[in-house]
Amino acid sequence: MYSQTVMEHFTNPRNVGEIADADGVGQVGNPKCGDIMKIYIKVMDNVISDIKFKTFGCASAIASSSMATELVLGRTLEDAWKLTNTAVAEALDGLPPIKMHCSVLAEECIHAAINDYRRKRGLEPWADKSHDELVEEHSHHHH
Ligand SMILES: [Zn+2]
Repeated sequence: MYSQTVMEHFTNPRNVGEIADADGVGQVGNPKCGDIMKIYIKVMDNVISDIKFKTFGCASAIASSSMATELVLGRTLEDAWKLTNTAVAEALDGLPPIKMHCSVLAEECIHAAINDYRRKRGLEPWADKSHDELVEEHSHHHH
C-alpha cells in the first residue's frame, strides 16, 4: 500500500521535535483520520533556517510532515509557501489516493506556520486556497 519512501520517512522521520523560540508555529488537524500536525519554523533573512514538527497521526501524515519539512528547509518563505501537497506526495513516490489528504495537511501546516510568523511581524497573512474539493474528489473515487 505504501511506497518504500513513505515507509522510510515514517520509520525514520526527519526534523522531529519542537523549537522553543520558534518564529512561527502552525497547527492543523485532520478529522478524517484524526491526524494532528504542528510545525515550528525559525526564519533568518526570509529563509527557513530551522524547522521541526510533531505529528500525531497515520503513517502518511508522519511521512508527509517529514518530507515537507525536508523540502522547505533552507528555502525562502515565498518558495516554501508554493510547496504543494502534490509535490510532497510525489517526493514520497506517491501516496495511496485515500491518504492524499494527509499530504494536504502538511502543506496547510507549513502555511499556518508562515502566516503565524507574518502575523507576529505585523504583516498581512497570505491567502490560503481551499483543499476541500480535492479531498472530496479523492474520497469519492476510492472507497
Ligand atoms: Zn492521515
